[in-house]
Amino acid sequence: MTRPLNPTLFTSLKLGEVIPAGWLKNQLETQKEGLSGHLDEFWPDIMDSEWIGGKAEGWERFPYWLDGVIPLAFLIESKFLIEKVERYINYILDHQHNDGWFGPSKWGKEPNYDVWPNMILCKAFIQFFEVSGDKRIIPALIAYYRKLNDIIDEYTLGNNWAQIRWMDCVWGIHWLIDYLSENNEITAFLLALAEKIRNQGYNWKEHFDNFFYIHFKKDPYAEIIYSNGILTPEDSYNEQSGKIIRKYDLRSHVVNNSMGIKSSTIWSRQSGNEEESNAIFTAISMLDNYHGQATGMFSGDEHLTGKNPSQGTELCSVVEYLFSLETVIPIIGCKPKCVSLIDRLEKICFNALPATFLPDMWAHQYDQQVNQVQAKRVRKPIYTTNGKDSNIYGLEPNFGCCTANMHQGWPKFVEYGLWAKDREGLVCLAYAPCKISTNISDIRIEIHEITSYPFSDTIDFSLHLSKSINFSMKFRIPEWSIKPTIQINQEQPITCEPGDFFNLSRIWKDGDHIKLKIPAEVEEERRYNDALILKRGSLLFSYNPREEKSEMSRWSKSAALRKNNPSLKIPPKVRDWEVYPRNQWQYALVEPVTAKFITLDENIKNFHNFNNKFPPVKLIVEAIKIENWDLQFDAASPPPLHPKGNTGLVEEIELIPYGCTNIRITEFPTIKR
Ligand SMILES: [Zn+2]
Repeated sequence: MTRPLNPTLFTSLKLGEVIPAGWLKNQLETQKEGLSGHLDEFWPDIMDSEWIGGKAEGWERFPYWLDGVIPLAFLIESKFLIEKVERYINYILDHQHNDGWFGPSKWGKEPNYDVWPNMILCKAFIQFFEVSGDKRIIPALIAYYRKLNDIIDEYTLGNNWAQIRWMDCVWGIHWLIDYLSENNEITAFLLALAEKIRNQGYNWKEHFDNFFYIHFKKDPYAEIIYSNGILTPEDSYNEQSGKIIRKYDLRSHVVNNSMGIKSSTIWSRQSGNEEESNAIFTAISMLDNYHGQATGMFSGDEHLTGKNPSQGTELCSVVEYLFSLETVIPIIGCKPKCVSLIDRLEKICFNALPATFLPDMWAHQYDQQVNQVQAKRVRKPIYTTNGKDSNIYGLEPNFGCCTANMHQGWPKFVEYGLWAKDREGLVCLAYAPCKISTNISDIRIEIHEITSYPFSDTIDFSLHLSKSINFSMKFRIPEWSIKPTIQINQEQPITCEPGDFFNLSRIWKDGDHIKLKIPAEVEEERRYNDALILKRGSLLFSYNPREEKSEMSRWSKSAALRKNNPSLKIPPKVRDWEVYPRNQWQYALVEPVTAKFITLDENIKNFHNFNNKFPPVKLIVEAIKIENWDLQFDAASPPPLHPKGNTGLVEEIELIPYGCTNIRITEFPTIKR
C-alpha cells in the first residue's frame, strides 16, 4: 500500500480569491497591455501552435503561455483575455485523444519524444479549474495521467527535459490527490504514478548535496567545462588530467536548476522524509555560494556561471525560481526558516523580474546582468553558451522560451505568494496591495491590504466580515526589518520578532483594522571582488546612467518576422531595442557610505509600472568617477579591487530601484574618503 500524502502546512487560496490592487494591479494591467495579452495574435509559435491545430511549434511554448495568461486574465478580470483563454482550453479539451493524451501526440512515432510540455499544461489546467470549476478538467486529467503511466512504462522519461523537470509533473499529481481527498483506486494509482516518475527522474537531492558545479571555464572551443575539487577556476583548465571534469549539459542548465530546487521538498510530501523537506535550503545555499547574484537569483547564461555581476541570468530562470519558492513555502509552513524563502520571493519579484522588461512590457531580455552597462548585440559574448543578442530588449532575444514562459511571474506571485490558509486561519506571506475574499467556517471574509509596499514600510489591513469570528492571522516579519510593530485598531502597538511569523488570534469583528510597520535601513553587502551593494528592505539600488534607446534593424527578430510575414498583424510596439549609456558609469562609492533615502510620493501615487523616469524611491550617495574600470566582452569588467579616482572629486549620485532600470551598476567598487 502506497503511503498517503502529508498535507501541506499552508493551503494556497484559490485563483481569484486574492486580487491585486494599487501599484500591483497597474503592473498586471501593463502586462496585459503588453506582449502577454497579444502574443497569440501574431507570434507564430503561439498563434499557429500545433496545440491548437496549427503548424508551428507544438512543444512547450503554447502551454507556457497559457500557464501565465490564465492567472493574469482572471486576476484583473480581463474579459478579452478570459475569452481567449476559454477558447484555447476548449480546443485542447475537445481534442483530447481517445487514449487520454493531450496536444500533439508524437511519442508513438518518436520513441524519444519528450513528454515535458504536458507537465506544463497540467499546471495551466489546474489554475483554470480553480477559477472556473469546469467539470471537464478533473476527468480529463485522470485520463491523461493513465496514458502517461502507460507511456513511461514503455519509453521511460528518457534523458531529456521531462527526466530533469519531473517534479513539475509530481506537483500536478499531488494537487489532484489533494483535490480528490479520499483514498480510493484513483488516488492509489496517482501515488504510484508519482513514485514511478520520481524514480525515473533526475536525482536533484544528490545534485545539490554533492554539488559539482563549483568551478567552470570556457575552453578554447567556447565549450564550458566544470570541475569539482579544484582550487581556482584557472586550475580547472590547466590541470584537467586526473581531475573530475564535466561538460555543460542539462544538469548545469540555469532553468533546470531554478526548477530543481523544489524537487526534494515537493517529494517529501510523499516520502514523509524531513531531510528531503529541508533540501530546498541546501539547494539555495549551493547556488548562492557559487553562482549567487545580488538579486537573490543566480547566474546562468545558459549554464551556471559564477558570481561575476556581469554574467547573465535568464528570464525563464527568474520566473521558475519564483514558482519553485511558491510551491515550497506551503510545505515548509509557519517556521522561521520559511521567512527567508518569502523574503527571497519578494527580492526576486521586486528586482530581477521587473528589471528584465522594458517598462511597457512589450520587450524583454533573455539574460539580465546585475552590472549591465549596455544592452546590445555584442561581437563576442561574455555568456557561457548564450548568443550575441541575449541582453537586448525585444520580442525573442536569443531564444523564444522566455517569450513564451515569462508571463507567469507577476500573476503567480499574486496567486500563490501573497496569502495562504493554515489550520487556524490566514497567513500573510509576501506583502503588496491586494484584496482577498474567502470563507473561514462558512463566514465570508474580505480583507483590503492597503499599502505602497515595498516603496513604504507600512501595511494596513481592513477587515470586512459577515459576522464576528475567531481565527488566527499570521504575519511574516522579514529578517531585515528593524523594530517591527503591529497594531490592532487603537490598541497599543506590539513589537514583533524579525525573521519569524507573528500570530494574532482573537475574535475579529467587521471593521477591525490592523497596521503592520516593518521599517528597514539601508544595508551594505560585500560581493564579487569585494564590490559593495546597497539595499533597503526587499529593494536593491542601482546607478542608472542616462540612457539612449536605439531600435535594432539589421539583426532584429521582430523586424525579420514583419518582413517575412507581411500578412501578420504585428502590433507596432513589437520592436527590438539596444540601450546605451550616455554618460560615465564607472563610479566607486565613497566609504564610509552615507546614503540618504528619499520617498517620491507623487511617483508612488501615480505608479504605472517599474520605470526609470518616475522611480518611487531613491538613494543619494557619494561617489567618485574612476578610470581603471572598462568593458570586457562588451560588458562591465569585474569591479576593480583598487579603483583609481580620475579627479578625486566627490559627487552626489542618485541610485534608483534595480527593477526600474534598463542599464545599471549595482555592485560598486569602493574608495575610502
Ligand atoms: Zn527562457
